[in-house]
Amino acid sequence: MRILLLGGIGEAIELARALTPLHAVSYSVAGKGRTPVLPCPVRVGGFGGAEGLAAFLRGNDFELLIDATHPYAAQISRNAAQAAQLADVPLWAYRRPAWRPEPDDDWRWVGDWADLMMVLQIFRRPFFTIGLEPLRHMAAIPPDQHWLVRCLTAVPPSCPRLTLLCATGPFPLEQELALLRHYRIDVLVAKNSGGGAVEAKLAAARQQRISVIMLQRPTLPAASREFTDIWSMVTALPPE
Ligand code: NAP
Repeated sequence: MRILLLGGIGEAIELARALTPLHAVSYSVAGKGRTPVLPCPVRVGGFGGAEGLAAFLRGNDFELLIDATHPYAAQISRNAAQAAQLADVPLWAYRRPAWRPEPDDDWRWVGDWADLMMVLQIFRRPFFTIGLEPLRHMAAIPPDQHWLVRCLTAVPPSCPRLTLLCATGPFPLEQELALLRHYRIDVLVAKNSGGGAVEAKLAAARQQRISVIMLQRPTLPAASREFTDIWSMVTALPPE
């Protein structure tokens, strides 16, 4: 079967490795992170929206589109749903299970930036791990707050009330605990990326009894079939 696999997360790489011996798989990434080395062709970069993706599906005779993208990469999932309809190709999706708080955790859920700013009012030293969005709002940091922002891209900060850390994970627990202590963090702002093990930063917040403000996941479109583990998807495919 000719399969286009939209990836960008660890499980998508596992899926590509598991399917390649049995099917003609092409793996696709946005190109913002590391490009994996895989036993199948890897395509890097966008398609030019849903129409571009549909044209790519038709032009290469793909018989199945798999969406195994990050839960917060909502645009590509929307494009995948639309493109699958336009190209008349079935869409299967891997939907990574979300992390859940433990009984003693203080997790507060917010839907958008405005919500987040409301909840953040009672805190003084937040640690943002949600990408570049906080940098767009640094002119509005309240005088009684200092923000620590960790992101992948090196951008020059220009605000005395903001400290920027450019770093690529994974980060070990000891390092996260030391960072929370060093910057006297009183709240962690995170995305609920989900996956096998809870990230070390959440485990560190739990150990130090620090509150977590969690950005809610975007709503994703329905697919013809949805899976919450990749092995169910592998076994659901016909072998040849
Ligand atoms: P997005 O907003 O869903 O996608 C933006 C555009 O990037 C898409 O419209 C598409 O361009 C291209 N694209 C995304 N994934 C692609 C793929 N697998 N193959 C080919 N093109 C792809 O996603 P994002 O801007 O990359 O990320 C949004 C959030 O998702 C991030 O802030 C982060 O929290 C999370 N995230 C994403 C990834 C990832 O690999 N994308 C990995 C980790 C975390 P065209 O419209 O031109 O086709």
